[in-house]
Amino acid sequence: MATLTKLATYLSLFLTLIFLVLISVADGNAQQSSDIVQHEEWISPLASEQHIALKTRTETLQSGDTAGVVLQRLGFSNTEAANIIAVAKPVYALSNIYAGNKIVRQDFEDAIAVTYHIDSTDELHLMFTEKDGWHAEVVPREMHMRTSVARGTIEDNLFYDAAKAGLEDNLTIQLMDMFAWDIDFARDLRKGDSFKVLFEEAFDDEGKRVGYKILAAQFKNRGQLFTGIRYENKKGDIEYYSEEGKNLRKTYLKSPVKFSRISSNFSDSRKHPVLGYTRAHRGIDYAAKSGTPIRAIGDGRISYLGWKSGYGRFIEIRHNNGTHSTAYAHMRAYGKGVSKGSYVKQGQIIGYVGMSGLATGPHLHFEFRTRGVAVNPLSVKHKPADPLPDQEMSAFRVKANSLLREIEFQSKTAKWG
Ligand SMILES: [Zn+2]
Repeated sequence: MATLTKLATYLSLFLTLIFLVLISVADGNAQQSSDIVQHEEWISPLASEQHIALKTRTETLQSGDTAGVVLQRLGFSNTEAANIIAVAKPVYALSNIYAGNKIVRQDFEDAIAVTYHIDSTDELHLMFTEKDGWHAEVVPREMHMRTSVARGTIEDNLFYDAAKAGLEDNLTIQLMDMFAWDIDFARDLRKGDSFKVLFEEAFDDEGKRVGYKILAAQFKNRGQLFTGIRYENKKGDIEYYSEEGKNLRKTYLKSPVKFSRISSNFSDSRKHPVLGYTRAHRGIDYAAKSGTPIRAIGDGRISYLGWKSGYGRFIEIRHNNGTHSTAYAHMRAYGKGVSKGSYVKQGQIIGYVGMSGLATGPHLHFEFRTRGVAVNPLSVKHKPADPLPDQEMSAFRVKANSLLREIEFQSKTAKWG
């Protein structure tokens, strides 16, 4: 048995080595077109998988298959199959099996293992030894985690430049959501802005991607650096915090326009002068394609919804017991389920960009009022949500430092590649 374990250890080291060589070859190719760098790691929940099976058989469930039939195809007798199903029942009912899923039988020197892939995250493990008979448990499937760093510079379009750097659209959206309280992606992006994103992808043991998330990111907008670190606090909430442990969430979003791949091409902007805040124009304008979603920048109650002369289709929201209010004009249409008096959540779609009322082209006219007086929305400072409690700061700093080091390390590796 000891020899077998040693052999298995050597074999797994050897396989890891081959794997790393393959990855570095793949990376070498990838670096010619982008700055993405990756780091791979297997998370194996089961020590038993270190052993080498003498024989492995896999059956993919066909429609109409029962567990009993498939177990017999895997070489178990009718009685053995019934026994396996009975042992499994307290942890997982094998009457709940789905076509396309797999049952695997592995024969070891002194044991037999049967594995059923329940879904992308869990599997049913059945183990037989002469000494203990059958034993069943549900365990997490082996996951393959890959972390990557993508970094890029804004040349003309965030989605395009992010994709060029190796960030797919869903991760670009996560990046924008993360900094939605600090950066107005619809108005404030400038050529030369830059980003570094450390993200993690999870793959199941068949190579299918089952999840992805941003672990940390930095965004430099008009010379100002914003940092976000993913952290699960003691209450179990997952939030993004600044390097100083401040929550990135704030009372109000920076932008009422939901920036997307489509709205990022501001091709209509020339048809309408995009006005900033002045005494004559007590709001700011967002030129965007007709139909671009408009979102409530904060929680509140709709105090006005309807046609309002030159403003066209108009919505006003009262926030924070009326201390603040926000106004949205020239809409093409109102959001679903939004009406006067209804309560809206931060980020909820309240309408769509249009040119109703007096407008020369599709745009959103947006106003922010404090105690009824219009102020420049761009100059209002907003209060962050709960910061990390002091007693969690040291654990947070350790995590933050290691993630930021990984961004720096992988960025440097990219430069040398
Ligand atoms: Zn305006």
